[in-house]
Amino acid sequence: MDFLFTREDLAKYPFSKDAREYIKELNFDYKDFGTPYGQKILERAYSRVSAAIEKRIIPPLFDEDLDVEILSFPTAVLLVGSIKDSLLSTRYAIAESKRASLFLRNEPSEKILYLASDTFDWKIAFNEDNRFQGYVFRLFFKDYLTHIPEHSPAWKLSNRILEYGEVLLTKHDAVRLLEEAVKMYILERLNKKIELEDSLGLFSPWIEKLRSSWSRYKAKIEKWKTVDYGEEAYPPCIAALLNDAKAGKNIPHVGRFALAAFLLNIGKTVDEVLEIFRHSPDFNENIARYQVEHIAGLRGSRIRYSPFKCENMKSYGLCRDDRKTCKNIKHPLQYYYRKGIMRKRKHVEEKRVP
Ligand code: SF4
Repeated sequence: MDFLFTREDLAKYPFSKDAREYIKELNFDYKDFGTPYGQKILERAYSRVSAAIEKRIIPPLFDEDLDVEILSFPTAVLLVGSIKDSLLSTRYAIAESKRASLFLRNEPSEKILYLASDTFDWKIAFNEDNRFQGYVFRLFFKDYLTHIPEHSPAWKLSNRILEYGEVLLTKHDAVRLLEEAVKMYILERLNKKIELEDSLGLFSPWIEKLRSSWSRYKAKIEKWKTVDYGEEAYPPCIAALLNDAKAGKNIPHVGRFALAAFLLNIGKTVDEVLEIFRHSPDFNENIARYQVEHIAGLRGSRIRYSPFKCENMKSYGLCRDDRKTCKNIKHPLQYYYRKGIMRKRKHVEEKRVP
């Protein structure tokens, strides 16, 4: 290794193997959280989780004391794990992974390779083949497949350069895959039963504060999500798919997925979605129900799928922004809520005019 993995690196990547070993050496135990120094760590841990709830990202700011920054990570994991809410766990894991990704983007390739192989045991090496200019790494295909961040054409193995069981990666690809690895690592830790022995009540005030801000946030989102803004607020891509479905046209599989995921995410029931697909020429109630329930998270992995973001809708040829009404829109759901809220406001204002 011809670079130093410094203490600042441990603070940037507190999930890394080096950081874990360093934390063990610090020998910081439960009673130490009762000291002013321990309270500082708890405060920073709280601010990590709080930022994940409020802003979805943890600002890459360091406490001036790097040890506080390093120790606040496992402490934050304890706080989140004690709340036992899978949505919060996911939100926190994503926010931490995005924080790491912001740092990784500016790292030399050597450090990226080191983290990937040392912390996540990836079989990764530098690409030294001049035929593949711009590709910095070669990653064993199994490691690639387990860390694909999303199911989109860009990440499909068939659209990648694969040689001798290795996938060629740009630096950007490697950082995105590592971001996924960080998220998976944190979720794995959070999914292990965390039973916190808080005999001195050092953690409970922080846990309670987080629990109540998370409940407030969830209530706000639920209220917002259950408002039906009507078909007038559907983005052009979804409106086109819906019209095709109602007209009994044969929609490709990705189109059906995009439509079903969108409708379920805006609060339609499985039966309401099935009604729409009933006009399809090859409709089969049992198969369709199984698929829609799967997308709704009622089967299999129990994860409710989100519709494709615009970038992926475009690559599947499903985008219909012909009239350029989707300025600054990155996701069909963003369009729906934005348009719906605007229409509602306009309606209220019109009612006010005498
Ligand atoms: S830009 Fe996005 S929301 Fe608009 S039509 Fe295309 S995919 Fe749909």
